[in-house]
Amino acid sequence: MSSLQNWINHGEEIRRPLMVNPKLAHSTTVVIVGGGLSGMCCAYRIATMRPDVKVIVLEQSQRLGGVISTWQDGEWICDLAVNATRPHPAFWRLIKDLGLASKFKPSRHQAQARWVLSRGRRHRLSWRSLFKIGPLKLWKSVKQSRVGGRSVAQVIPHKAIADALCLGIVNDTAEHVDADFLLPSLTGFGDSPPIKKRKLNRLIAETYPIFTPKKGSIASIDGGMATLIKSLGEKLLQIENVEVLFSQSVASAQTVAERFGIGLESIIWAAPGNRADYSESKLSIFAIGYRNEQVANVEVGYGTLIPDAELPISGILNESDLHYSKRAPNGHRLFRLMVPHSRWNGDEQTVLSCAENLLGTNPELFVKIGERSIPRYQPGYLRNIAGLDKSYSQVGWAVSGVSITHVVDEAERVAELFIE
Ligand SMILES: Cc1cc2nc3c(=O)[nH]c(=O)nc-3n(C[C@H](O)[C@H](O)[C@H](O)COP(=O)(O)OP(=O)(O)OC[C@H]3O[C@@H](n4cnc5c(N)ncnc54)[C@H](O)[C@@H]3O)c2cc1C
Repeated sequence: MSSLQNWINHGEEIRRPLMVNPKLAHSTTVVIVGGGLSGMCCAYRIATMRPDVKVIVLEQSQRLGGVISTWQDGEWICDLAVNATRPHPAFWRLIKDLGLASKFKPSRHQAQARWVLSRGRRHRLSWRSLFKIGPLKLWKSVKQSRVGGRSVAQVIPHKAIADALCLGIVNDTAEHVDADFLLPSLTGFGDSPPIKKRKLNRLIAETYPIFTPKKGSIASIDGGMATLIKSLGEKLLQIENVEVLFSQSVASAQTVAERFGIGLESIIWAAPGNRADYSESKLSIFAIGYRNEQVANVEVGYGTLIPDAELPISGILNESDLHYSKRAPNGHRLFRLMVPHSRWNGDEQTVLSCAENLLGTNPELFVKIGERSIPRYQPGYLRNIAGLDKSYSQVGWAVSGVSITHVVDEAERVAELFIE
């Protein structure tokens, strides 16, 4: 495939190195460790691209989807991890191939506004936020970041904005987050496109199936992300050359090679936590719901990021404002609260009091829906990944990028190696 076609298919993902053993594509059996979205997509793409290759997925738990799941209680529906996707043609291709096009819709346009709550004051995030940072200061720090290995705090020299961005995506503050990993196109990590960015973006826009997303928009699925996992899981079960084995806690790639009598080069590690410097941060997720009139003063929007560490809540997502599909009973609004354990004493009452201050008192619904861990991406993370040993392949959000678009696109890139 030409370099230009590669950029059109995968966009800025091309900047991220694939952690793939060059001999993987010669395998007749491929074993994938981890049945999260990444492992599932790799299995799906490789198995459909190459029906002659046997693909085995080993998942430690008894379900597929990894961190992705959707909580439901009657008409209240709330995702625990990802709830929507930013535009990327690979994700649109996946939705189309799974036959989910009719359930996939752009998020509601009225719910685009995002706010940052800092020292008790709410600021709306927009291009004007650039002036808060200082365009010249920002330009200088972005230019300096080209050396690589910088933190997001060094690239975006405005603590509240940089922290809000990082907390909203990786549950960590900006000085601890690798700018290359989070914003490779801004820091210029990796290869550059062979044509001007604007022209490339136009060509990419022409490739979207289903609908072409508007700039800055996001999209989500009827019933939450569980709909995607259910459909992908069912598809995997129908594919003859795929086998999914549950309750398989794998100790190492070596043990997989011995058990299946294959070389290390035929193993894809799609589970996080397989490197010496790997660590995670934890957070709890709460759902809180109100009758419309109780929260009439809360503006319709995407949500509010809260960098102030004195408050237990780091982010409020306006779930029922955002999605085209229903997330709350008629006449009600649903919000999702993100609570990092680094700033919470574990007492649910403190979360409720904080939410009541920020949203409204006496909610109709207040429930902790789960806990999740997110990989830490310390400055230098992406640079170090590029130098990792590739005796077996590694995919997933600990190596490719933190969002679902990264892991979905990465799976396509890995599968394409099987036909090159
Ligand atoms: C709270 C939260 C909010 C998020 N919000 C967004 C968002 O808004 N937008 C977005 O794009 N993304 C978001 N994400 C990120 C997105 O969910 C991830 O990028 C994606 O789901 C990662 O998939 P994965 O398969 O790489 O990893 P995982 O989901 O972690 O899957 C790994 C799998 O490997 C299994 N496993 C682990 N160890 C072993 C072992 N030793 N042996 C066998 N199996 C093993 C696990 O059980 C799991 O099933 C969010 C994530 C979280 C937690």
